[in-house]
Amino acid sequence: MSKKIPLVVIIGGGFGGLAAAKRLKHSPVRVLLIDRSNHHVFQPLLYQVATSVLTSAQIASPIRSLLAEQANASVMLGNVTGIETASKQVIVNVSDMLGRRIGYDYLIVATGATHSYFGHEEFAAFAPGLKNLSDAESLRNQILEAFEKAEIEEDPDRRRALMTFVMVGAGPTGVEMASAIAVMAHTTLRKDFRRIDPKSAHIVLAEMGSRPLATFSEELSESARRRLVWLGIDMRLRQAVQTIDDDGVVIGDERIRAKTVVWTAGVAASPAGKWLDCEMDRTGRVRIQRDLTIPGHPEIFVIGDTASLDQDDRPLPGVAQVAMQQGKYVAKSIHRKITGHTQLPPFRYFDKGNLAVVGKNFAILQSAGVQLSGFVAWLGWAFIHIRFLAENSLRFSVFLQWVWTYFTGKRVARLIIRERTNGLEHSRFH
Ligand SMILES: Cc1cc2nc3c(=O)[nH]c(=O)nc-3n(C[C@H](O)[C@H](O)[C@H](O)COP(=O)(O)OP(=O)(O)OC[C@H]3O[C@@H](n4cnc5c(N)ncnc54)[C@H](O)[C@@H]3O)c2cc1C
Repeated sequence: MSKKIPLVVIIGGGFGGLAAAKRLKHSPVRVLLIDRSNHHVFQPLLYQVATSVLTSAQIASPIRSLLAEQANASVMLGNVTGIETASKQVIVNVSDMLGRRIGYDYLIVATGATHSYFGHEEFAAFAPGLKNLSDAESLRNQILEAFEKAEIEEDPDRRRALMTFVMVGAGPTGVEMASAIAVMAHTTLRKDFRRIDPKSAHIVLAEMGSRPLATFSEELSESARRRLVWLGIDMRLRQAVQTIDDDGVVIGDERIRAKTVVWTAGVAASPAGKWLDCEMDRTGRVRIQRDLTIPGHPEIFVIGDTASLDQDDRPLPGVAQVAMQQGKYVAKSIHRKITGHTQLPPFRYFDKGNLAVVGKNFAILQSAGVQLSGFVAWLGWAFIHIRFLAENSLRFSVFLQWVWTYFTGKRVARLIIRERTNGLEHSRFH
């Protein structure tokens, strides 16, 4: 009788899940990758979709096509709602079939993270976050529409509120969004309006801590701060956001009227910890062991943004490199278990460095004792981002787009796309 080929179920086709699936290409297993969306998104460039530099199709690829050449892998479009560890089954809503059960021999959970409003869920209605393509497109609509509405607004206070953009949180996403809006207002939109001056847009970057990009050294963070100020961004450091509502924000004790507020502050893990009923950290990430499994289940691995693991007494950061390295590690580990080889040594993250971009021609880079800021770091940032896109077609398309935008200042994706009712395009924009 032929031996049954083990089934590895992977939940999530992001950086971690996809790396694991690809690495299992030559292993004697069947791979089933389940994702609730049909595409893999390159999240580090989402801000460029939100600010009209790139289109969604330039930073995302269908997962099915990424695994098309891998005979042992199949893909399922479905939303996982639970895991039954005792019977080794995943519960998934597929199309109109709810609660379908899929058995597994090995399970890799790579469901990423979502926004956290730190207990202020009421902020969500007024300050959307940036996590997927639909968030990015909706923000793009909102930002472009703000300028359109300002152009026809008679009341100066309301016009000012329309042209005020507040980012809450000065981590990489807040800094990238704020600087990209500033560059757009000063270059792309410069000549396009008749009644407003886009350059007068008020861009606020609020941060509770004492410096932007706090995961970088103080020196690099200070050079980024100076660049942000040079771009005309109104930095509000050491000031907590008290309220976010229909009218804008209250930062410290000052109200800033703003029609666009973007939440770039916190993340919370996916609900995987609840599905697995295991120990979590305070942001809901699953506490995993050094072999990336959960206690008592050598067949269940949790990786990427959904997992919590300390290395040298510090938690590993929620970045793409951690997710990818963990994805490759678990694939190797499963291969060894199945083929009877010795176990892998515990997982160890190799930190290749950290990068953040601050508008055109400027980035900061920290890697293995090297610290760089300015144009060379910006070139490094561009090279690395192109290199890590999922497909050659995206690399080529993004490269050409960036060259075009660099020299012309034009942004091709400046489209407001809304549902049309009563002959007009409508939005939730207030
Ligand atoms: C705006 C932004 C900018 C970033 N910039 C950088 C950067 O510059 N550098 C860097 O290193 N990192 C950056 N990150 C972080 C990086 O993208 C994450 O660390 C990385 O994506 C984590 O990979 P992952 O595989 O754990 O999760 P993800 O890549 O988020 O993938 C999770 C996948 O799981 C799927 N999924 C979730 N729940 C379910 C469910 N219930 N059922 C089925 N499928 C599900 C999702 O659809 C998704 O495809 C950024 C993140 C964001 C949001």
